[in-house]
Parts: sequence; structure tokens; C-alpha cells
Amino acid sequence: MTVFDVIIIGGGLSGSSTALNLSKKGYSVLIIEKEKLGDIKPCAGGMASSMKKFLPLNIDQAIESKIKNVEFRWKASDNVVADLSGESPFWIIRREKLDQLLLDEALKYGSEIIMPAQVEKITSQNKTWIINCSNKVIYKSKFLVIADGSQSRWAGHFKLGPRNPKFANTIALRLKGLGNLPRDAARFEFGYVKYGFAWAFPLEDCVNIGLGTFINNKVLKDDALNNIIIKSFGFEDLSFKAIQKKLRIWNGIHKLNGDRVVVVGDAASLCDPFLAEGIRPSLISSHYAAESIDQCLTSNNNDLNNYSANINNEWGKSMAWGKRIAQIFYRFPKTGYQLGVKRKTAPKRIAQILSGEMSYEDIAKRVIKRLLTNSET
Ligand SMILES: Cc1cc2nc3c(=O)[nH]c(=O)nc-3n(C[C@H](O)[C@H](O)[C@H](O)COP(=O)(O)OP(=O)(O)OC[C@H]3O[C@@H](n4cnc5c(N)ncnc54)[C@H](O)[C@@H]3O)c2cc1C
Repeated sequence: MTVFDVIIIGGGLSGSSTALNLSKKGYSVLIIEKEKLGDIKPCAGGMASSMKKFLPLNIDQAIESKIKNVEFRWKASDNVVADLSGESPFWIIRREKLDQLLLDEALKYGSEIIMPAQVEKITSQNKTWIINCSNKVIYKSKFLVIADGSQSRWAGHFKLGPRNPKFANTIALRLKGLGNLPRDAARFEFGYVKYGFAWAFPLEDCVNIGLGTFINNKVLKDDALNNIIIKSFGFEDLSFKAIQKKLRIWNGIHKLNGDRVVVVGDAASLCDPFLAEGIRPSLISSHYAAESIDQCLTSNNNDLNNYSANINNEWGKSMAWGKRIAQIFYRFPKTGYQLGVKRKTAPKRIAQILSGEMSYEDIAKRVIKRLLTNSET
């Protein structure tokens, strides 16, 4: 029986990009995916173009809008506009297209995929993973990547990531037309959603709308309020099909690797706890997971500790500040909006966060410095 170098559980964004990174390096990779892929993903598709460096292929086909302005509003008024100057630093991509591009390219480089199939049992024998699947076939590999998303069953099984994951409750929908959104603007709407916000990101011929609540495990049940929000984006036809999703968000620095196993993307609880940004950490974790596994396979060792160190360093440090900001902002949103978003220098800083030029950590350090020196940032 074939022993794959790597088996990846989950063929979404993180799984497919890890597969592509590894198969490009010449490793044999099998993805096990439980769904038939291709359906609309509950993801608004906002992505920093600076992530090019972590993308293992050209994704031009999936980019549907290049955002020049980001609008912030408090209950449909009190607007602030952040000008994203420079080389289109924020893209809106169609998620299904991006995932498909990554998967197709991974398959082109020799990765294999089994779908739809559920992983039912994982055991280890003589440094080999033995994976029992719902299709009654057993697969074997040297390394294992857990990429099964926010509802991950396997991250907890291997004690990777937070023991008690935190979730944002979200609703996603895609509506035809652009509503009242300018073609090259994304909008963040505060004030309506308790402990969170709503967002509208334009694709070519439609808008991805999302509602998310980030603290206190608040549920988005108020249909009347949700309709007001959707109307605020300029949509009259409210006969929409919404997808509800619990999104696993960052909740502390944790070990993300075990012996011959790593966890990536949402399964690793990497999603930004303030703005729900999950594409960036998915690509970053896929990149470093492939790099660490490559190092192990070339030097014949099993030490994946540098994977956890890299992710916690590159992403976790900033998210620790993101979490603090979320806890304060969403508890006192009106004050947060006035002091944070409406501050003179805020639009520039927000643009820098969205474009990936600055992290929450950078911003926090500036604020602390300003408080200490009482000077303007
Ligand atoms: C409403 C909403 C809006 C968002 N908007 C943005 C945005 O604008 N920008 C941004 O950066 N991020 C956004 N995100 C976050 C982003 O969508 C996620 O972080 C991203 O999808 C993570 O990718 P993933 O591959 O880790 O997980 P997923 O895309 O969820 O993929 C996991 C895959 O694993 C499969 N799977 C699950 N269990 C098993 C199993 N047992 N066996 C085999 N396969 C399994 C699933 O079928 C799925 O295909 C948003 C999220 C939500 C909910």
C-alpha cells in the first residue's frame, strides 16, 4: 500500500494551499475532503494583496474587485473613509474560485484527493499514520496536516490549539447587484450588531454581506435587525439565503504541532478575533506547515516545533493585541468608534492593517508610545 508523505484532512483554502506548497516541492500528498467542493463558501473574500508572497500561484482569475476606499459607518451615518492608496492593497476574491484554483494546481503537481470522504479514525504505527475513512479504505502517511476548518474534530483530538476554542457567530449572504456600494469600496457597518459589526464587500456582479458577533458568544437571531442592516447596504429584496457559521477565532498562543502532525487555518484557531480575517493566517500557516514538513522530510527528523514558533511569532503576537482590542471595542463600541475609527489618523492606520503593512501589535505599540510621550501618531 502507498504510504503518502503527507495526508491532509480538509480540502478548503488551508488544505489545498498546503497541498500545493508540498506537491510543488515534489512530495506525495493526499487530501481527504468530506464535502463535494464548489458550493458558495461563507466568506466575504477580503484579502490583503501583500499576501502574494504566501500564495503559491497566480490568483488573478479569482480577484473580482480591487478596493480603493474602505467606508466605516455608525448605524448608516457618521461616515469615515479610509483611502487605500498605492497598488490596490485590498482585494475581494471569490472564495470558491480561489479554493478551486489552489486545488486544481495542487492536483496538477501530483496531489491526490478523495472526496467526499470522512476521516473516522486515526492511529499511528511505526511512525506511520493510519487513517480509516468512511469509504472503508485505509490510507497511510508519514506526516499529517489537520485543515478541517472551524468545526475541526481533529485539532482537539491531537490537543493542538486552544483547549476551549472561542467562536464568532456569523451570518453570510451573497446578494445580486451592488446595493448602494461604490464599485471599488468595501464597507464596515458598526452600531447595529451587538458585540460585532456587519460588512459588505463587492464582487463583480454581487455583494458578499456578513454579520459577525465576536464576544460573549452572542447569537445573531434578530431577523428584523438583520433586515435593517441589509437594507442599509441598499438591498430591498430580502428574500436571501443566509449561511450561519460558527467561526473559530484566535484565543491565545498554543502549540500547533505534535509529533508528525500540524494544524493549519481555522482548525488552528488563527482567525482574527477583531475583524474575522482568516484568509491571511490560512495562507501563512499553509506556507510554514509545508516548510517545516519539508525540513523534516529532507533531514529525516520529526521536529515540527519551528512551525508553532513561526506562526505564533508571525501571527499570534499581533492577534494577542487584536483580541484585547476586540474585548474593549465590542464592549464599548460607540466610544470605540469615536475614539478609534473617527480619530484623525485612524483611516490611514486601518488601511495599513487591511493591506497587511501594519499589525495590531505595531498599532498598539504606537498608541502606548503616544500615551507615554503624549505626541501625535
Ligand atoms: C461569514 C464569514 C466571512 C468571512 N470573511 C472573510 C474575509 O472577508 N476575509 C478573510 O480573510 N477571512 C474571512 N473569513 C474567514 C475565512 O473564510 C476562513 O478563515 C477560511 O475559510 C479558513 O479556511 P480553512 O481552509 O482553514 O477552512 P475551511 O474553508 O472551512 O475548509 C475546511 C475544509 O475541511 C473540510 N472538512 C471538515 N471536516 C472534515 C473532515 N472530518 N474530514 C475531511 N474534510 C473535512 C470542510 O468540508 C472544508 O472543505 C470569513 C468567515 C466567515 C464565516
